Amino acid sequence: MALSLWNSSYKEYLSLEKCISYVVVRGLVRVTICEILKSVLDFLTVRGRINFGIMSKVPRDTFLNTEHFKGSVIVIGAGCSGLSAAFQLKRAGCQVKVLEARSEIGGRVKDDKSSGICISQGPQIITGCINNPVYIICRQLGLPLRILRPKCNLIDQTGELISEPIDQKVELYFNLMLESTEELKESEKHIVSKLSLKDCLSVRKDDLEMQIFRELTEVEGKLLQFHMANLEYACGAPLERVSALHWNQNESMLQFDGEHAWMESGFAPIIDKFAEGLDIQLGCEVTEIDYSGDRVQVKDRDGNEFIADKVIVTVPLTVLKKETIRFLPELSDAKKSSISNLGAGIIEKVMLAFNVNFWKEKVGEADFFGRIPDTEKDRGLACLFYDVSFKETHALVALVVGDAVDGVKTLSDPEIVECCLEKLRNMFPDEKVPEPHRYFVTHWNSETHIEMTYSYVGVNGSGVDFDNLAESVDEKLYFAGEATNRRLSQTVTGAFISGLREARKILTSKT
Ligand SMILES: Cc1cc2nc3c(=O)[nH]c(=O)nc-3n(C[C@H](O)[C@H](O)[C@H](O)COP(=O)(O)OP(=O)(O)OC[C@H]3O[C@@H](n4cnc5c(N)ncnc54)[C@H](O)[C@@H]3O)c2cc1C
Repeated sequence: MALSLWNSSYKEYLSLEKCISYVVVRGLVRVTICEILKSVLDFLTVRGRINFGIMSKVPRDTFLNTEHFKGSVIVIGAGCSGLSAAFQLKRAGCQVKVLEARSEIGGRVKDDKSSGICISQGPQIITGCINNPVYIICRQLGLPLRILRPKCNLIDQTGELISEPIDQKVELYFNLMLESTEELKESEKHIVSKLSLKDCLSVRKDDLEMQIFRELTEVEGKLLQFHMANLEYACGAPLERVSALHWNQNESMLQFDGEHAWMESGFAPIIDKFAEGLDIQLGCEVTEIDYSGDRVQVKDRDGNEFIADKVIVTVPLTVLKKETIRFLPELSDAKKSSISNLGAGIIEKVMLAFNVNFWKEKVGEADFFGRIPDTEKDRGLACLFYDVSFKETHALVALVVGDAVDGVKTLSDPEIVECCLEKLRNMFPDEKVPEPHRYFVTHWNSETHIEMTYSYVGVNGSGVDFDNLAESVDEKLYFAGEATNRRLSQTVTGAFISGLREARKILTSKT
């Protein structure tokens, strides 16, 4: 009952009184049910299943059980996960301080409005809307969303649209490759466990070609390279760095269902709302966390010291890998090896805003279109274009994935833009592809204090590594962030939920 009441009216705090008004029995049974309801509501609220986000009618004491922890907490990092934890803890009555190394909040949430519309340099898609808490928060705030249509036209480097039968055939072939990788995992687990996804897929490709008694045609081979690039987008890394055995470890776990949605106004309005009223210290790069005593001592690069009962670390995986934060005592070997086993993936985005929409005629109503590369080497640079046009602004976002991410490191932004334009000219030979009047090129590779896009399972890793990373220590040191969420890593939703998860652990801790 509580869950359905919340889902039908999530803009308003779900109170015990409201729930009780739906209890239609009298006498002792009613008294008992009301007591149980109080525990149920508290249980769900503490876990962030109901009464989260931006609601009206929020009472002074949101948490019905007054026994919860109400001490001091330092949150390190003001990205999605840090802010969701801080917001929840503050609402529960804790004294919270957020320390952020950069000069702005948001972390990987970084929106750009230079073209006249909001185009994110980082995340802009909610993956699976049904019951997704981030989707619910968008609704609470009335943020505009556009459901992404799954249609994706594929265009080769001569401007030919790939026909549907060939597209379907190669997609089937690619899925067979992935499926037979799954079979190989069962039969040859000891071999596959040492293989990268690239190696494993090429073994399966050879097997499949033997089974169908022919090699792929030239165009089919190129199309296959597009699918490989798309997989590198999903993983955030070249396939030779990704575990063949565990790359899709979370597919067997329940994920949020439903369509994917494009956030017209980006994720920043959510971040800003969560940050309202929080004590956030910007430009504060934490370099040491000493959790050896009763309380935790935190030091920053300028020598400032902070003390709290508990600390939540939400820095990106790259920061943990580089060991820029010294932990006293050192982190456990299990945690350290998990930090090394997981990969810090990178993709880059190139936004191009034009005065005319020259792609519409060929691409039609699709929200994105793919570029079929001529060669394997060419597959990662501008493999997919999102059409992010809005009203009078015509804009595309091209993705750079896989080996191309390293490949473009030596190029200047105008050179990278020129490469994308050249690809577009090949794809649209009948159109005049103009110079963009605005553009941006992201550099997540070198973005200070982040240096990554999203995590993936490296060749030596497994899903357990996400859990190890999430493990708290001595009820004093806690970890959140997308790379601590085994089920929903890589996403804003995963980061957001990991923040709620650690807030719940703290609120229900014994000391
Ligand atoms: C290009 C790109 C596209 C993406 N697309 C999507 C998408 O469409 N949908 C989606 O759901 N997700 C997407 N993601 C992933 C999503 O952005 C992340 O999963 C999420 O934002 C991570 O949040 P977080 O809180 O874990 O980490 P972060 O946002 O990285 O926050 C960590 C914070 O810690 C701070 N920090 C680092 N070191 C220190 C230190 N020593 N002291 C203090 N503070 C420190 C950092 O500055 C940062 O602000 C994308 C990411 C990128 C980059």
